Amino acid sequence: MSIDPVELSRELVAFNTINPPGRELACIKHLENILAASGLATSVHEFAEDRANLIARIGGAGDKPPLCFTGHVDTVPLSNAPWNFDPFAGDIVDGKLYGRGTSDMKCGVAAFVAAICRMAAQLRETSGVVLVITAGEEIGCEGAYRLARAGVLGHAGAIVVAEPTSNRALVGHKGALWLRAIMTGVTAHGSMPHLGVSAAYKAARALTILEKFQFNVAPHQHLGSPTLNVGTVHAGLNVNSVPDRAEIGIDIRSIPGLEHSRISEHLRAELGDDVSLEPIVDVGSVWTDPHHPWIRQVLEVVQVITGEDAGSGPQTAPYFTDASVLTPAFGHPPTIILGPGEAAKAHQTDEYCSVERIEQATSIYSRLAARWCGV
Ligand SMILES: [Zn+2]
Repeated sequence: MSIDPVELSRELVAFNTINPPGRELACIKHLENILAASGLATSVHEFAEDRANLIARIGGAGDKPPLCFTGHVDTVPLSNAPWNFDPFAGDIVDGKLYGRGTSDMKCGVAAFVAAICRMAAQLRETSGVVLVITAGEEIGCEGAYRLARAGVLGHAGAIVVAEPTSNRALVGHKGALWLRAIMTGVTAHGSMPHLGVSAAYKAARALTILEKFQFNVAPHQHLGSPTLNVGTVHAGLNVNSVPDRAEIGIDIRSIPGLEHSRISEHLRAELGDDVSLEPIVDVGSVWTDPHHPWIRQVLEVVQVITGEDAGSGPQTAPYFTDASVLTPAFGHPPTIILGPGEAAKAHQTDEYCSVERIEQATSIYSRLAARWCGV
């Protein structure tokens, strides 16, 4: 079936899938109808009211596992600053398609859906492809985790994550471990602080430790060193009481080889018994050797279509993706992050995606699928 990826991008942008709360179901069903009409076997996996993931497959012949394309349909909220364009209209001005979730990453989803629908008939008797379209990525890959835990993903021999990269092929990204550190005390009237135990002072001691925290690992050759940032600090409810609760939000970005459980243990040892740690987001890093033959093939295809040289050395993404969950769930096949959106425009006011890049991405995905399936 002939699907226009730009028109499909506009249709997807029209669904309000701001997360929270997400409400991705209508958007997912729309995609399911298109994929099913093109002959793919689809399954919708609901995991909460109005929220669902979609898996679509075609082919599956022989021993070679299918190629996986993945993307999410939830978006971040609109910013406080007013938009110059209707964030759900998908207006095209000067070759840019505007709207919330264009770059991140409905245009990427539209591009691989259009690519596969167009060539579906050719893929039927081949190893084929599996499309994994998720909900709830923006808040810690929730949808992908649901699919992995449900055991419905099956196999994949390689993964293309259509997150925004301006159609450059990126071979990895850091992981994220977000923790809530909680300190408790005993409240008392502000005029008699000696009768209480201040959680705020416990938080202050914890902050000093966090500022000096060292991971004690060698940096990754391409992803660099792990980092730790304190993003939030809250203590107390009113000025004239001793606060009995404090919370610190910690954002750790990890590198391959550094287990999150090890980081948590290390932090617990340094922070001591006064601080309890709860995970908020826990997604691992992703890395594929850039010399892997399939990665080299991807780089070749990208260069042919975009005319842009891959540049010197492997490139990596600044953000994490569903690959943190899907790559291990599929048994660590080679994984590339490659999509038409502009990473710099993701989550921004007046987010847009270049129309030309949507067309390019569709061609890139077609060629990758064709090469994978030998058609
Ligand atoms: Zn994204």
